[in-house]
Amino acid sequence: MISVEEALTKILSAVRVLNNEEKPLLDCLGQVLAEDVYSPFDVPPHDNSAMDGYAVQAKTIKGASLVKPRVLRVIGEVAAGRIGNITVEPGTAVRIMTGAFIPEGADVVVPFEDTDEVERNQNGLSKDEIGIRTGLADGCNIRRKGEDVSSGELVLRKGKLLHPADIGLLASLGRSSLSVIRRPVVGILATGDEVVELSQPIQEGKIYNSNSYSLAAQVISYGGVPRLLGVAPDDVEQLTSSIRIGLECDILVTSGGVSLGDYDVVKQVLAAEGKVDFWTVRMKPGKPLAFGTFKRTDGKQIPHLGLPGNPVSSMITFEVFARPAIFKMMGRNDWARQNITAIMEDSVRNNDGRRIFARVVVSKRDGQYFAHVTGPQGSGILTSMARANGLAIVPENTAEVKPGDSVEVMMLD
Ligand code: AMP
Ligand code: MG
Repeated sequence: MISVEEALTKILSAVRVLNNEEKPLLDCLGQVLAEDVYSPFDVPPHDNSAMDGYAVQAKTIKGASLVKPRVLRVIGEVAAGRIGNITVEPGTAVRIMTGAFIPEGADVVVPFEDTDEVERNQNGLSKDEIGIRTGLADGCNIRRKGEDVSSGELVLRKGKLLHPADIGLLASLGRSSLSVIRRPVVGILATGDEVVELSQPIQEGKIYNSNSYSLAAQVISYGGVPRLLGVAPDDVEQLTSSIRIGLECDILVTSGGVSLGDYDVVKQVLAAEGKVDFWTVRMKPGKPLAFGTFKRTDGKQIPHLGLPGNPVSSMITFEVFARPAIFKMMGRNDWARQNITAIMEDSVRNNDGRRIFARVVVSKRDGQYFAHVTGPQGSGILTSMARANGLAIVPENTAEVKPGDSVEVMMLD
């Protein structure tokens, strides 16, 4: 048996970061930037107002207050997006809107709330004057030119995973397209004579192909592009031709046909078509696992991950092994999860020294996480996976986790 870490290291060493593609800005969300991005200009491009109010000179309003307002002459108004050619002088004010450029001469913006504008309107007084009811320090309520980004600055580095704020930042620099690392196309092939496609009527002894759908959903949620290759029966010839179609993808994931004593066509096909290792991994569920590389006719090596057929095993081995591989292909290096520590509310026994991933529901009470098992833990019981929001990790050398013990939980959402 090999450890989970050993298996993951081998898989990751056979997986390469994909090439770049140029895409429209919004399509790049969740992908890794493949270029350094410098700003061609200052953001904001000019000093502008952070408030709706009056642009004035700080020295003019020094000592102004509610009881002793300083009355200034209003010489104009600037709206956002307009460049006024007015100059503010001592004793004058310009009515200004948020985002509008600060007129020449002004060094402070007094918000409407600190003026008598409302009362003037109510009493029908002249709008040619404004009473300022506060003094303000030089620069107050002004956003400075370049305070967000200065011209020529390195704004985002190559290798950055793009979040919504990055997309907005890039838009503020006028970038409508970007170079990012491509998303991997993940071929998904189910195997088994008993497995039928969803479009088929179900007959005695058959089951629907759930694995391809849970795996494809996992691929999508981790940023890959699934390509469903259907179900191949336990037949060398048909499996071989399905696998060859799968080699058009960046990585091929199969489910089923890898367990010991199974009708092991996947093994036969793999051994004939490429280089493959069959592992028994020290984990539960998900002990049997195949990993290899296929050589395409063009010489390209395509990694293949052969997951066990049991629906829960295939999902958990995907979480543990395929998710990091997808992240690596996308140029991400953050596949290690931020696990939490929770108090177990049930007991989990570990009979054979493997690492158990127990399906649990984690909740928070009084600032502390608690985890309870989602019911029967058979590796075919998909409802217990659907109910879980985390996988509690029982280490190889722990014979039993009892209620009240602390465990590490890998959160699934
Ligand atoms: P295997 O690893 O091929 O021996 O399959 C183990 C178990 O998983 C068997 O009970 C299969 O019927 C079930 N199984 C295999 N493939 C699928 C699939 N695509 N969808 C749902 N169950 C499957
Ligand atoms: Mg099978």
